[in-house]
Amino acid sequence: MAYDMVIRGAQLRGSPHLTDIGIAEGRIAAVAPGLVTDSAQVIDATGRLVVPGFVDSHFHIGKSFYGRDTHRYDYQQAACEPTDVGERYRRHFRSAMGDLEVYHENVVPLVRQWAWKEAYTPENVADRICDALSLGLANGVVACRMFVDVDSFARLTEFEGALEARRRFGGLMQLQICAFPQEGLDADPQTVALMGQAMEAGADVVGGLPHVEWTDDLCRRHADVCFELAERYDAPLHFLCDDVASPMSRTLEYVAAKTIQTRRYGRVASSHNGALSTYPDPHAVKVINLIRDAEMNISCNSQVNLLGILTRVHEMVDHGINVSVGQDDLDNFYYPFGREDPLEWAWSIAHAGHFAYPRGIEQVFDMLTVNGARTLGLTGYGLDVGCRADLVVLDCAHPREAIQFQADRLHVITNGQRVAGTKRERWLAEPAHLRS
Ligand SMILES: [Zn+2]
Repeated sequence: MAYDMVIRGAQLRGSPHLTDIGIAEGRIAAVAPGLVTDSAQVIDATGRLVVPGFVDSHFHIGKSFYGRDTHRYDYQQAACEPTDVGERYRRHFRSAMGDLEVYHENVVPLVRQWAWKEAYTPENVADRICDALSLGLANGVVACRMFVDVDSFARLTEFEGALEARRRFGGLMQLQICAFPQEGLDADPQTVALMGQAMEAGADVVGGLPHVEWTDDLCRRHADVCFELAERYDAPLHFLCDDVASPMSRTLEYVAAKTIQTRRYGRVASSHNGALSTYPDPHAVKVINLIRDAEMNISCNSQVNLLGILTRVHEMVDHGINVSVGQDDLDNFYYPFGREDPLEWAWSIAHAGHFAYPRGIEQVFDMLTVNGARTLGLTGYGLDVGCRADLVVLDCAHPREAIQFQADRLHVITNGQRVAGTKRERWLAEPAHLRS
């Protein structure tokens, strides 16, 4: 058979034998040892781990490198007061944050964030998104659910920037856009109409952030509006629920129940969910069972939530819930670091979620790959014949070594094309006593 590319000697997860992978017309055409080909492109992977490309199931990518293009000098530290931020928003977040010290720690940066968002243009958003996606592609990310703020500050600029970035990336990555109400719906009443406009213009997913509203009733109303939008556009939903260390924050269970009531099984995801860790165990088990029965997808981002509160990842995995991972934030007000690197997420969740032993390490690799693909609803994902040829050759033999050494991604292949990779140099002076 004529292949466009053959990968020789691939080590697949859990397989006792090496195999070849034949690729033709952007698809996996054969998985078997000793493939015969006169293909021009042969990749020698002998003994190296080959996995399907990584999936980022939750990334506020519109805010990556958030002030770089508008406030070049020391933008992480720069003092900046917006000229026209309504008192309504100050009051809203002041009451939500509690005391004055927390207000100054959290709301003043938020006010600054609103000023950044007002200064965005679709072009500078697209440039920043492309830089973040380029990091991801070189690290083996082949699909990403991109969250963009849609509100009275950003209006549609983040969304339009994401559309432009998706156009620039062409078929290199599978990119979904989630229209996300970062500033709330009751707090920011223009947002619902803007979210509708984004859905009309090509957004794929309806976002939601119910726990930021003032009262439990308003939180539930927020979720209801999101479900109504999803119904109108026949779109999946992705909420951020209860990203606070308070047992009083209980929007996740409402979203799960609403998912069951509206029969949107498998089409609703939720990220963060930190408050679940603060519930008494009997109530947490009830909520986890609801999530499972609703077939919700849970996305976690341990590296960012280590700075706040991490949800009950291990218990959800043990209850058979589909848990994936994502970058969440990269160089913005919420998180100053981030490299859009799935092996960094894996290292973090392996520690924070207690997945350090053989079965747990395999579960972490599922979170990076198949679980994320299921969350995004990707079809033709994997290493079976007929799947889209999106895969990564890692410079290691197995998942544990990949996480331990943050292995180089020697070849990143998307849609059957070799498009990126990483190769670090190590250098040692080799003093005489180290030589044999
Ligand atoms: Zn998030």
